Amino acid sequence: MWRDLTPIGRDAESKGYRRFAWTEADRDCRDWFRSQAETRGLTYELDRNGNQWAWLGDPTREDAVVTGSHLDSVPDGGPFDGPLGVVSSFAALDELRHRGAEFTRPLAIVNFGDEEGARFGLACVGSRLTAGQLTRDQAHRLRDADGVTLPRAMEQAGHDPEAIGPDPERLARIGAFVELHVEQGRALDLTGDRIGVASAIWPHGRWRFDFRGEANHAGTTRLVDRRDPMLPYAETVLAARREAQLAGAVATFGKIAVEPNGVNAIPSLVRGWLDSRAADQSALDTVVTAVEKAAREHAARHGVDLDVVRESFTPVVEFGHALRDELTGILGPDTPVLGTGAGHDAGILSASIPTAMLFVRNPTGVSHSPAEFAAEDDCLAGVTALADVLEGLACR
Ligand SMILES: [Zn+2]
Repeated sequence: MWRDLTPIGRDAESKGYRRFAWTEADRDCRDWFRSQAETRGLTYELDRNGNQWAWLGDPTREDAVVTGSHLDSVPDGGPFDGPLGVVSSFAALDELRHRGAEFTRPLAIVNFGDEEGARFGLACVGSRLTAGQLTRDQAHRLRDADGVTLPRAMEQAGHDPEAIGPDPERLARIGAFVELHVEQGRALDLTGDRIGVASAIWPHGRWRFDFRGEANHAGTTRLVDRRDPMLPYAETVLAARREAQLAGAVATFGKIAVEPNGVNAIPSLVRGWLDSRAADQSALDTVVTAVEKAAREHAARHGVDLDVVRESFTPVVEFGHALRDELTGILGPDTPVLGTGAGHDAGILSASIPTAMLFVRNPTGVSHSPAEFAAEDDCLAGVTALADVLEGLACR
């Protein structure tokens, strides 16, 4: 499975993945998922929000156990973030069949659409729509960098954008969702464990900072006459780093758009996106408030206008203790339980259904980069752990 997936959406030069929602690479990943489902005699289903499901047993029965993750990627993402969970799900099912397990609950493997939000700027679109945390109208307003709207992109990929929306009946049939994911930090490496169980996902959000100044000639405009939005932007980047450090949080400006974007032109607009996360809400509020305050001060000093828009926000997610305890009961009491600064579909769904996560050790902690890595032994330990968990939950 890994070999088949490896070439899909991989950039020849960077070796990173560009599997963006509703693109050709996304379609190839989806075709792969469908063929894996059909090869195993599972019932394949594409839901109204573009999430793919592979069912063992009756999809209409109650109390199903669901596992899976996503196959899309960030720009130049690594091979493990997402696909490891989907591949491990199929491999765990193979292992359970090999063990002769008898299922007492329906089991499904899911590939959630558009988890990373790389193309339309909002993460977890597939699960948010399903859980009713994103309305159809809101989703219809999403646009990619080329101005293509989400409904247009869906249409081009052969999916009906009018059909999207909440899917409470589907969620009501799910008794437990377990997502396996490569760890995106070094906690397991530091404790020397292959596998961990998630405790919580940090609250996190994205804020857009629009600094508006005045475009002018880079050679003839005196420094004192400039209203250069790049300057307060640069100060704001430094402030984000400083405030995050003070609060024990993280803050990143990883994306920027400049107009007119000319080497010899003072910019008229610098648009930067702040991503910030912290272990608790008050730390996150402290960081974002302080960064915005610094941005306003520096903007005013340079005669630049500033708009700050919160584009997305996900509050802290505490995974339910009952299911988490079931997992540690199955995997052993020494299994580490850890928090994470990364968002996941499991975090979105935890508001609606019992959810849990398994993490597989990442020796460098690097993620969202072509250098993301997990050792094969650790991945196989993840498959065994997931199989044990699914057997404990779904088999007699
Ligand atoms: Zn992921």
